[in-house]
Formats: sequence, C-alpha cells, structure tokens
Amino acid sequence: MSDLLNLANEVISGRRMKDGDPELSWLITGDLDELMQGADRVRSELCGDRVDLCSIINGRGGKCSENCKFCAQSAHHHTHCDEYGFLDTETFLKDCGRMAAQGVDRYSIVTAGRTMAGADLEKAIESYRAMHERYPEMILCASHGLVTEEGLRRMVEAGVTMYHTNVETSRRFFPEICTTHTYDDKMEQIRRAKAAGMTVCSGGILGMGETWQDRIDMALLLAELEITSIPLNFLIPVPGTPLENRPRLTPDEILRIVALFRYINPTAYIRIAAGRSYFEDGGEVLFRAGANATLTGDMLTTVGNNTAQDREMLTHMGREIKPVPAGD
Ligand code: SF4
Repeated sequence: MSDLLNLANEVISGRRMKDGDPELSWLITGDLDELMQGADRVRSELCGDRVDLCSIINGRGGKCSENCKFCAQSAHHHTHCDEYGFLDTETFLKDCGRMAAQGVDRYSIVTAGRTMAGADLEKAIESYRAMHERYPEMILCASHGLVTEEGLRRMVEAGVTMYHTNVETSRRFFPEICTTHTYDDKMEQIRRAKAAGMTVCSGGILGMGETWQDRIDMALLLAELEITSIPLNFLIPVPGTPLENRPRLTPDEILRIVALFRYINPTAYIRIAAGRSYFEDGGEVLFRAGANATLTGDMLTTVGNNTAQDREMLTHMGREIKPVPAGD
C-alpha cells in the first residue's frame, strides 16, 4: 500500500497531524490520485456519505470599511458590486423558505462590513427570530464580522447556532491580504462565538498568492481550533480588486487543497464555497477528494450552482442529502 494510503489509515485510526510532522510534505508532493483516494477514504470512514447543504444571502451589500484584497464589497476597491442597507425581515423569510423547500440544511445571513451593531443588529435579531419560528428545522448561521459577545448571545437566543468568520489564510500571509483588521481580531471573534455557545464555521480563500506551506498552516490552525465546518473558496478574481490579475488555480491544485484539508481536519465538514465553476461538471470530483459539504445557490458576489442540479449530482454519486420536504 502507498505511503499516502497508509497515512489515511492512520488518520482513520485516530492519528491527528501536527505541525512538524514530516508526512505533511507528502500532502504537497505526493501523487494526486493517491492523495484523493486517501482523503475520500478518510471522509467515508469518519464522516459517512452525508453531504451538508447550506445557502447564504447577502443581507447588507458593499461600502465596507475594510480592505480585504479579494473582496468586491470593500470601499477601498473600485468594483461594480451592489450597495444597499440591511434587507427587511420579509425578504429573509421568503428566501429562507425557498431554500427550506429545496431541502437545504443551513441558512445564513452574511453582511458586508467590519461589524454588526445598533439598528442593523436589532433587525438581524428580529429576522433570525422570525425565520426560526417559521422554519424551525432550518439550522441558522450568522456571518457579521467582528461582533461583541453580547450581540452573539442575542443571536443565539434568536435561534442562531453557528457563527461564520473566516481566518481567510495563514497567519503569516494575512497581512498581505488585509491591514484594517488583524489575525488576532479573527482569533478573538472565534473565541467570542464559542463563549456565546455557538459552533464555528471558519475557512478562507485559496489562490490569493499564498504558498503550499500557508495552506498547510491554515489547515493545522483550524484543526487546533477544533473548527467543525471549513468553507474553502477558490479565488475568482474580481475586476477592480487588487487581486484581479492573480493567476487562477488549476483544477489539480484545487483538488490537492481539498484533499490536504481532509487529511488534516478528518472529521470536519470540508465545505466547498466559491469556485466550483472551475470544474465543468458542477465539481463532482471535489466530493471524491474529501469534500462533504457545499454552499448551494448563489454566492455573495458571484453566481453559484443551482440547488436542484447539486441534489441530482450528489444523489447520483450515492451521497445522502436532506430530503425535500413533502408538499414542496
Ligand atoms: S471580506 Fe468582509 S470585511 Fe473584508 S472587505 Fe469584504 S465585506 Fe468587508
């Protein structure tokens, strides 16, 4: 048996990869087919065939004070993104209901901006409460930047169970991507979300110029933080952002990234977010490389995959997804 498949078996038996492990270099240089085979075995043995589907709505768009280089919504860049204030509760209810009717597991409001406070926080709480009452089976997540623990506790009371805050990349590379907030701000936000009783969804964006070592470091950090849901976005360069001319990742690089995250975070949801469009078939192969969750429907500022097509693809692969509720 190859070294990579042996390593996969060790992970299945309980080994957890740590900084300094010599085998980490195999994830970067090993044969891609064997790496994917091992990652898929880890996924199958430790997570089963269940795939988690989530959907997001951009609840407040553009004019963000922060300068994240990848982001179309930063006021520091010159993009043509939509700018609007916090949407109303009815809009969220309608969209959440539409996704519930399609058998989506989780729904999240995501807002542009450094934080969420004041009148917008009140509107968010009201909206989460209304969605939780009308669609109690929908798992609610929230993504509103750097929020106080008090604000997070109020979201929990309104029915939110998971907070999303990406680390984006490695600690080393982060200052190359954003200077208006720090990696420690991110760590503190993760700590606050856990203290408020939430589980945490945290991943990032790949293809921003980071090295393979940065990718390994990011995956190791997320494992150390015991993050249970790791969204992986593959950069789709947006015109007008500082990363507009970044060369795109190749499909093989993307598959290697997914597989290495699975080896290092064997029991987490490895969640494919932006970038499935790099693959012609809706990204089926990503779910053979270790992925077991995905965003479905449109992304924040880029067009995503159709939920019905995703369900058909995953069902065809033999994966288990939440059934569409009767009558819809
Ligand atoms: S990623 Fe979030 S914080 Fe950064 S510029 Fe975009 S909306 Fe603002």
